[in-house]
Amino acid sequence: MAKRLSPKTRVWLLTLLGSIGAASIVVRLAHHAPPAGHHLPWWILAALFLVAELCVVHIHLRGDAHSFSLSEVPLVLGLFCSDPVQLVTAQAVGAALALAIHRRQAVHKLAFNLAQFALGTSTAAWLFYALPQRTPLEPGGWLAAGGAALLSALVGVVAITTVISIVQGRLQVERLSTVATLVGIGAATNASLGVLAAWVAWRDPLALWLLALPGATLLLAYRAFVIQRQRLDGLRFIQESTRILHASPELDQSVLAVLQHACEMVRAETAEIILFSPGDDPNAVRWRVGTEGSVQTMESIVLGAAELSLAASAVRGEATALTTAREDSTIRPLLERRGIRDAVVAGLQAERGLLGLMIIGNRMGEISTFDRQDVRLIDTLARHLAVALQNGQLERSLAQLRALQDRLSEQAFHDALTGLANRTLLTDRVEHTLQRRGSDPVGVLFIDLDDFKTVNDSMGHAAGDELLAAVAGRLRGCLRPSDTPARLGGDEFAVLLEDPGGLGEAMTVAERILDSLASPFYVHSSSVHVGASIGIAMGVPGEKRADDLLSDADLAMYTAKLSGKGNFEIFQPRMREAVQHRHAMKSRLKQAVVDDEFVVHYQPIVELGARRIVGAEALVRWQTSTEGLLFPDTFVPLAEETGLINEIGAFVLGRACRDARRWQQGAMAPPIGISVNLSPRQLTDPDFVGKVTETLRQCSLPATSLMLEITETTLMRDDADNVEKLQELRRLGVRLAIDDFGTGYSSMSYLRHFPIDVLKVAKPFVDGIGTHAADAAFAEAIVRMGQSLGVQVVAEGISDPAQLTSLQSMGCQLGQGFLFSPALDASAFARLALSKTAEPVVVGGR
Ligand code: C2E
Ligand code: MG
Ligand code: MG
Repeated sequence: MAKRLSPKTRVWLLTLLGSIGAASIVVRLAHHAPPAGHHLPWWILAALFLVAELCVVHIHLRGDAHSFSLSEVPLVLGLFCSDPVQLVTAQAVGAALALAIHRRQAVHKLAFNLAQFALGTSTAAWLFYALPQRTPLEPGGWLAAGGAALLSALVGVVAITTVISIVQGRLQVERLSTVATLVGIGAATNASLGVLAAWVAWRDPLALWLLALPGATLLLAYRAFVIQRQRLDGLRFIQESTRILHASPELDQSVLAVLQHACEMVRAETAEIILFSPGDDPNAVRWRVGTEGSVQTMESIVLGAAELSLAASAVRGEATALTTAREDSTIRPLLERRGIRDAVVAGLQAERGLLGLMIIGNRMGEISTFDRQDVRLIDTLARHLAVALQNGQLERSLAQLRALQDRLSEQAFHDALTGLANRTLLTDRVEHTLQRRGSDPVGVLFIDLDDFKTVNDSMGHAAGDELLAAVAGRLRGCLRPSDTPARLGGDEFAVLLEDPGGLGEAMTVAERILDSLASPFYVHSSSVHVGASIGIAMGVPGEKRADDLLSDADLAMYTAKLSGKGNFEIFQPRMREAVQHRHAMKSRLKQAVVDDEFVVHYQPIVELGARRIVGAEALVRWQTSTEGLLFPDTFVPLAEETGLINEIGAFVLGRACRDARRWQQGAMAPPIGISVNLSPRQLTDPDFVGKVTETLRQCSLPATSLMLEITETTLMRDDADNVEKLQELRRLGVRLAIDDFGTGYSSMSYLRHFPIDVLKVAKPFVDGIGTHAADAAFAEAIVRMGQSLGVQVVAEGISDPAQLTSLQSMGCQLGQGFLFSPALDASAFARLALSKTAEPVVVGGR
């Protein structure tokens, strides 16, 4: 519960408790009165308390201060010569005047202090009246008064320690004994003075006048001591600040350290310095330290109305104390934004004018606020700092600031990895060039590396970064100094040709870049090939904006990529339509997933010798209402790009498993195995294995009847998780095939340690049998490799009898292709399988 109350509420609660305690003691003692003839009027006591509270010494102890005054003198006098009610009232009035007028305490702090005074005094009175001897003429009375004064001082120490502990949320027992000893000595001294005064008053009140002179002298001496002590503290503070200011060569560091020191000295939570720019420039630098040094910042800010208003008043005079409650609507937002309740603001006034402002905020603890001494200290510090800043250090700090800003802008406009311009800078330059009237067309090349992803995936990001840096180097080598090469992100680069002198010249540059990137790179001590696709767009100044020109070049690059990589294309307006079409396809594809527009067709996998159908490859189709049946080439790459392949893939897997199970239960023999294509993106699903297992369970299909086809690139990805998932599937009994073997980025080494069941010879090799000797040799090599590794080999895309004969003579046992059958819908496939399983498939039959 205590945790949920604000510090202020906690102080109020404590105040209430103290007041109730004091009141109940006073009520019980109300019948007591001093012996007749020895009564001092309450207002004299009040005046004495007022004077006592005006001469306060602060003892600083680890960030907290305890005030210590002459108040025990009137207290003791009051015990002997007044009644408890009048005594407590007199103290309340005297102290309230001192605290409210002189120290300007906030209401809750004032109330707390008055309550703790009342509690101390009433407790003292309780002890005093509990003892038998109560006149200043007998030693018993002296002891009673002395004990009472000590008790009152102790109650004060305990009350203040409690409130600090409660407000700051940590117990401060360790400070108690030190403060209590110091305060005790003071209280005992003051009590003896009080007893003496009472003794005189008792004997002959007139003789009190005799005490007036030594009393006043004592008071003056005491005040002098207080002032000296304050000066000494101030001097030490200034000395220490000077030392700190010159200790560090970096101005930032020393300013922050001085602020930190100021916070400690005046027990503030935060401190900041705002340093103005010369002239009317509204930009400024702000250094700030927060609670106990926890936050230290330096930042540039723009001066607002509040800062300007503070500056205006700072020009006029000394430092001033502010509180949120009292300030006007211009300054209050500034204090509130910084969470400041009370503050001292000082101007950094130098010969050449006001350099800036220093704001020290939030006095720690809840019982005091900044007093006149604090204001004076801060004022001195500010003057001192202003001189130091003026003496050349200001220039240094501004130079440091400028260097920092330069560094930040360098980072904002360049690519950190390659040092080339970034998109912002390139766009800016293109825009500038396009705005130069009367100049010739401007050229932009958009360059995208062709096989960067493969390198990045298989060799790791560090190798990828090295490659990108090397590409940037070659790019620079192909250009004139007036051209701007840039990296736009990932493996995308661009070049601004400011004055290409026509399209022909731009094409020559593009060719030079393609040539230069075509030779191998050496990355992580291996040789790597990456090509590039380039788009060229030309813009006439006044006709095009930078963004349009860049997106034209991007489109041309995209077209170059689609038309077979390693090339350049020149932008044509019709390319936009192609891209728009692609965009439209993407959204249609999303809708198609929702509307369930996909179907699965099956292409038989045939045992070449016996010509029996032993399995089927599930191939997805998109049944559109407008364009009929669409083949995977038109939408699978898009689905992979958008991630929709996960939903589509799950659908194909479910449908294929269900159909396979149905066929197995039917009259077909041998049992049909089903092959499903897997996109690399599906494997990244953390629960992929779980989903496959669940699908098999729901369809009651044995895991051994399912084969997943993956491409070499999927395996080559340097991703331990993917490999682990595939191995887990295999342990379940699922079989794995490498699809389109021989076309990917091959490294045969994975075949040695990765458990594969089937290799599928890619269609291009089968196509080449009979026409290209190399293709035939390659197909044969794959078949032999399969035999020696003990895995089955399926030849894809067998379309004529000659290919079939050759493959058989190579020893290939399985195959698929239009020669046997294209992919068929489920019922057509079932009919074919039923009629042809036992008999050879008619060659050429569709
Ligand atoms: P793939 O896995 O290599 O599938 C074989 C492709 O070759 C199929 O094309 C098939 O119809 C075609 N094909 C088979 N024999 C012949 C032939 O004799 N001549 C010719 N010209 N083509 C033949 P399709 O169905 O168009 O599939 C193309 C590719 O789309 C597949 O290549 C596969 O990579 C992908 N794909 C198909 N279905 C899915 C699927 O459900 N998920 C995923 N991730 N990819 C799929
Ligand atoms: Mg396949
Ligand atoms: Mg294939």
